[in-house]
Amino acid sequence: MFDTGDTIAAVSSPPGAAPRGIIRLTGPDALRFASNWFDPDDALPVHAQPSWSRIPGRVRLAGTTIPATAHIFRNPRSYTRADLVELHLLGAPGLLALLLDDLVAAGARRAGPGEFTARAFINGGIGLAEAQGIAALISAQSDAELSAARRLLTGQLSTVAAVAREELADLLSLVEGALDFADEPIDFITADQLRSRLVALASRLDATLAAGAAAERFGVLPRILLAGRPNAGKSSLLNRLTGLDRAISSPIAGTTRDRLAAPIKLPIGDALIIDVAGVDPSTEQINQLAQDSASAAVHDSDLILQVVDAAAPVDPPATRCDIVVLNKCDLLDAAGREKLSARLHAATGLEVRSVSAATGAGCDELLAAISESLRARRMDVREQQLALAVEHRDALAAATQAIRRAIDLAASDARARADAELIAVELHEAADRLGMLTGELVPDELLGRIFARFCIGK
Ligand code: GDP
Repeated sequence: MFDTGDTIAAVSSPPGAAPRGIIRLTGPDALRFASNWFDPDDALPVHAQPSWSRIPGRVRLAGTTIPATAHIFRNPRSYTRADLVELHLLGAPGLLALLLDDLVAAGARRAGPGEFTARAFINGGIGLAEAQGIAALISAQSDAELSAARRLLTGQLSTVAAVAREELADLLSLVEGALDFADEPIDFITADQLRSRLVALASRLDATLAAGAAAERFGVLPRILLAGRPNAGKSSLLNRLTGLDRAISSPIAGTTRDRLAAPIKLPIGDALIIDVAGVDPSTEQINQLAQDSASAAVHDSDLILQVVDAAAPVDPPATRCDIVVLNKCDLLDAAGREKLSARLHAATGLEVRSVSAATGAGCDELLAAISESLRARRMDVREQQLALAVEHRDALAAATQAIRRAIDLAASDARARADAELIAVELHEAADRLGMLTGELVPDELLGRIFARFCIGK
């Protein structure tokens, strides 16, 4: 399904303009391709440069040269366990596309989604749970999801599964040993011993399943996005509404550079509140990444609050918006508040809520309005994020069930002896299911589904 013998290339930096862009190449010809387009500043050609080196130089492109650095990771000491080169250059999308086109014209293949990680997995660099952790990391948007993804990534699940498989292998050798030497007067394992080891194993797997469920929950919480111009008070509002002191709030416009998310308790249940960089059309290009992240967050939210600064009121932009929040109301008197609310309502046709992140005034009413809106919307479950963990959960659950069936079969010494073959079948089943988590036994079709969730270049 995945061809790993050729050389693939992709832009692996996020879409949009940025100070730096990355083209990634991996495969047997990665070094050759790199040396055709990249001239190191020192005289040493690319193929003679040491592994793990960062080489300053220039990329030859469209009849000119532009400054770049090449990062070389040689087989097998690379992410994909094949030669891997990253060319870092100015992050202009047109430029990166041009270089990629050139590489493809010269014989490299455009990488499909997740193909770099697929190679890392297939070549034995990482386990399946870790690969899924990477997929989750790429799509994670909140701190909670991020740390859940990191735990996956560090192979926690693979480790649990690997330890459990060893225990199963040990038990299997005893159960099968008893079968093979049924006529010998040797006691390999008593039914009591077998049951107690299986019970301990099942409860360890249950605990892992429960921990996984708690981590997954964050992936399916409704998302509430705070949008609005820099300095409108979004970070202060996030702090106020969540009761946390997380966002950096400062009087300098544009201090919220990237997404921040925090869990929030609503009358209808938990939700995530997300603060992104203020969308300000006048900001300079260096903010592009943050702005892109903001647009992606808009796309991904269940409810969007446009925060308007009462001290510098401007009508919210005609983008998607559900509730207008007029913040810093402590700076206005009641009449001023009324007038401004009426104006914003007339301009947008939306519900306007006056609050003060500074004093907390109006915040309870805002939370109630958010709850009501979410209830009215009956937000859909985010299947994709949930799906990330579904294979894990199914595998763990199936393994646990097989172990429980084995426990039932081993009710007494007499039964354990009579049903030894069936017990062995269940233990094999459990080990096979866990093998999916350590990446040892993975059907092709499942692999395809997993790596299809990645973005290209990862
Ligand atoms: P952001 O850029 O939208 O995240 O805005 P911040 O939360 O960083 O707030 C910008 C400035 O407005 C900071 O100096 C805050 O202290 C101030 N601020 C935020 N909310 C209020 C409020 O309700 N009342 C007053 N008076 N100032 C506020």
